[in-house]
Amino acid sequence: MVTTRFAPSPTGYLHLGSAASALHGWRAAQDAGGKFLLRIEDIDTIRCRPEYATAIHEDLRWLGLDWDGPVRVQSEHFADYRAAIDRLNATGLLYPCFCTRTDIAGAPHGPDDVPIYTGTCRKLSAAERQDRVAAGQPHSLRLDMAASNRPGLSFFEHGTGRIACHPELFGDVVLARKDTPASYHLCVTHDDALQGVTLVTRGVDLFAVTDLHVLLQALFDWPTPEYAHHGMLTGPDGKRLAKRDRTLTIRAMRDAGMTPSDVRTQAGFR
Ligand code: GLU
Repeated sequence: MVTTRFAPSPTGYLHLGSAASALHGWRAAQDAGGKFLLRIEDIDTIRCRPEYATAIHEDLRWLGLDWDGPVRVQSEHFADYRAAIDRLNATGLLYPCFCTRTDIAGAPHGPDDVPIYTGTCRKLSAAERQDRVAAGQPHSLRLDMAASNRPGLSFFEHGTGRIACHPELFGDVVLARKDTPASYHLCVTHDDALQGVTLVTRGVDLFAVTDLHVLLQALFDWPTPEYAHHGMLTGPDGKRLAKRDRTLTIRAMRDAGMTPSDVRTQAGFR
């Protein structure tokens, strides 16, 4: 049974580009007679807003998309993500990092466009780590990549075939942020496994981080789904649609008199 999902972060109204992503997942499930799930990825409680999540439900329904089963709302499950982090921490593969943004700025960026960590806090002694954590110093938890990496990881990309993963290119990534007890990479892989997602359809902008997701799946013993990364919609100038272009939200298009079928066509679907 094929299970796909649409996993938006409700940081604004549903945009044509995201609607296309939803349609990819929905269509793949329909074609296979499978299931299509909706998950609200709102662990960033500063940037995400419940009213945007409600609007995403409404806009998807207006577009004619429906989903199977209950919607998983990540902000309701911080305890689950914490438990996963604790399990990994118990294996010694994580370490607390007390560095600030400024400490890290300037380092070359990895495939996720985040500075590759220089490893300062990896070198702290166990006693110093303990003291600083006990003193309540704000810290994130990083994955010790050299200790975690597994040889031979790969995933199946639809239309391409098997792709070898190189998570080491990311360096020691953050799995639990200072401000949120989790991170996108952890939550997305946790939930894909929990919800039995067999095919991840998402924009090619997330293709690079799949290597990291496959490593987390291996570390947690979660199955690796298949992936189908789709191209991003472009405007008449050939450039990617700007998320901040408000005329391209589903709401604005509807208010401008477009029908669901018009919008689906514009998203590349019939
Ligand atoms: N929540 C992510 C976003 O809105 C997408 C996650 C995914 O599809 O893996 O960009």
